[in-house]
Amino acid sequence: MQKLLQSVNYLNGVGPKLQRTLSELGIITIYDLLYYFPRRYEDLVVKDPQDANDQEKLVLRGIIAAPALLKRLGGKRTLVIVRLLIDNETIPVTFFNQPWLKKQLETGRELAIYGRWDATKRSLIGIKIIQASSSTERLDAIYPTGKHLSQKILVKLIKQAITQYLPFVHDLLPSSLRQEYHLLSDADIIVGIHFPRTKQQAQAARRSAKFRELFLYSLRLCALKVSQGQDKHGVAQAINNDYVKQFLRQFDFELTGAQRRTLKEILQDLQVPRPMNRLLQGDVGSGKTVVAAAAMFASVTAGFQTVLMVPTEILAQQHYQKLAPLFAKFQMTTALLTSSLTAKQKQERLAAIKTGQFNIVIGTQALFQKDVEYKRLGLVVIDEQHRFGVRQRQMLRQKGGEPDLLLMTATPIPRTLAITYYGEMDLSVIDELPAGRQIVNTYWLRSSKFEQVRHFMAKQLQQQAQIFVVAALVNDSDKIELASVQTIYQKLQQQFPQQKVGLLHGQLAADKKDQIMQDFQKHKIDILVATTVIEVGVDVPNASVMVVMNAERFGLSQLHQLRGRVGRGLKQSYCILVSDPPNQVALQRLKIMTQTNDGFKLAQKDLELRGSGDFFGKEQSGMPQFEIADPVADVKMLDIAYQKARYLIRDDPQLAQHPDLQEYLQMKTINNLD
Ligand code: ADP
Ligand code: MG
Repeated sequence: MQKLLQSVNYLNGVGPKLQRTLSELGIITIYDLLYYFPRRYEDLVVKDPQDANDQEKLVLRGIIAAPALLKRLGGKRTLVIVRLLIDNETIPVTFFNQPWLKKQLETGRELAIYGRWDATKRSLIGIKIIQASSSTERLDAIYPTGKHLSQKILVKLIKQAITQYLPFVHDLLPSSLRQEYHLLSDADIIVGIHFPRTKQQAQAARRSAKFRELFLYSLRLCALKVSQGQDKHGVAQAINNDYVKQFLRQFDFELTGAQRRTLKEILQDLQVPRPMNRLLQGDVGSGKTVVAAAAMFASVTAGFQTVLMVPTEILAQQHYQKLAPLFAKFQMTTALLTSSLTAKQKQERLAAIKTGQFNIVIGTQALFQKDVEYKRLGLVVIDEQHRFGVRQRQMLRQKGGEPDLLLMTATPIPRTLAITYYGEMDLSVIDELPAGRQIVNTYWLRSSKFEQVRHFMAKQLQQQAQIFVVAALVNDSDKIELASVQTIYQKLQQQFPQQKVGLLHGQLAADKKDQIMQDFQKHKIDILVATTVIEVGVDVPNASVMVVMNAERFGLSQLHQLRGRVGRGLKQSYCILVSDPPNQVALQRLKIMTQTNDGFKLAQKDLELRGSGDFFGKEQSGMPQFEIADPVADVKMLDIAYQKARYLIRDDPQLAQHPDLQEYLQMKTINNLD
């Protein structure tokens, strides 16, 4: 292994400049280079022009019929034109901006040229010349190289590294595991991936490489968990369980079994010195807030400060208004900290937080800016954590003292996939909704049927219902033909003159937003037209109808979150998706929404439908980057790899039997799960 950890500058031709370029691609050592895998292959199959399709990439083999012509087009632009004789036909081949090729195109020489076929002109745009010696290599690996490195140089370096270092490559995976799953050795993986002779060989190598990557990743996670388990740097909080029980008695409901179980898990974590690192997962409306509030309360009974961070001001306000009075009954003080405070207010609040006058702080990202100092931070709770990035999570860790950390999310990630998102965390799942929770009846209508929606709304309003209407845009745009909140707001005001219609979007001032939310809360507003600012967390139990305009514009998880804003009270609730789906996938997604209320089922269906569903799309942060495996598409493999890694670490936590793996983990400095 040591040999492989040598710098790439041990290779011929790697000077400081190339070394820097390589390091930008993450290639520092020989090991990195050997395991720097191609993104795809170009299929270098020699074809007969008669069988070629227009614009197809292919290889033509023939004899140069006449001297090549070099034309200069000004600037650095050039053309090299040559005629290639194939059977009885001469095919013109044009190379752009590769003037040096002219030399190689000697009359009478037999050559294979890779390029793009133009069927109408019966000519080829040349991409590269394939030397006779390498013409048996039918697949050409294509690497992600960035701007400053050519494929050719990289391929040459990899070839050199393989020639010189392949004997030093060890198999990291235990051989029993390789046998059980028919995995190639590391040396075969490397050769097969970089220089495959056939598609089958490339495929077999990739399969083994994927498993290898997922296994090693899982192993790092499991090892990290073991080391965290031994970590004693946190604080053991001496919480008062009797007070916690009294606190819970204030609610006009009993906790569900799942809430009780997850709260117990959290409270246990608080009491041991190991810093808690726990994810609380529960579908929309499963009652995560109470659990978090009880945990925060417990931490304060042990003499600590605690903070709750949420992604929007609206949500911060809502939590503050609900929780502060509950805490106040126990002489606990709560501060609200958002970016909309005046400078003076903020100063005062920061000072009071610093001296510990406030026990509980609720707010947005503002909570973790540099100027915020805490007195004795015991527990940090992050609600709707998927809205925050890794960076923000790290920032709060730096607030010192190794506080316990509780993340909450409604994103229903199937258990196996959760490994990759939150692998280093412990998981608590609220898998039960409060009793009597009704199913939100969900319908899909085309926009031409909006009249029906309006009738339905009118009927519901007669029964004192409150309605959300969500639109995709704040303002009308000439580029996209969508109704904005503004337009819909005006339209609904005209259509429902007897009702109070409110408008809410992110561009309003914070106090304005707050006022509108409170008015809706108090039923001073009947119809609230909003953007997705209300997507997460908002809890208005009397609201029972959710209308989503242009529903095709939203991802499944977003639609599920939006739907979760209703069905929180006693009234039968409805979600109406107004949409003209532009394609099959969009149509299927709408149908799934009408078929199930269960977030986990939705996520599963979404996976089946799209391979990598949008539940796990860009909005998720903190997802590790894999070189070659795709944790969604390869989820079954991930499952197996993770189980195997878990067993291995369980039976041999120090990897005494696997010195190579031990060395690998040290190399990867297991804390750094990039
Ligand atoms: P989420 O998990 O989506 O954050 P909330 O914590 O906002 O859900 O809870 C949704 C609603 O359910 C709130 O109005 C809350 O008061 C209520 N609730 C929570 N737990 C229970 C329970 N055990 N029984 C009845 N209602 C509950
Ligand atoms: Mg919530």
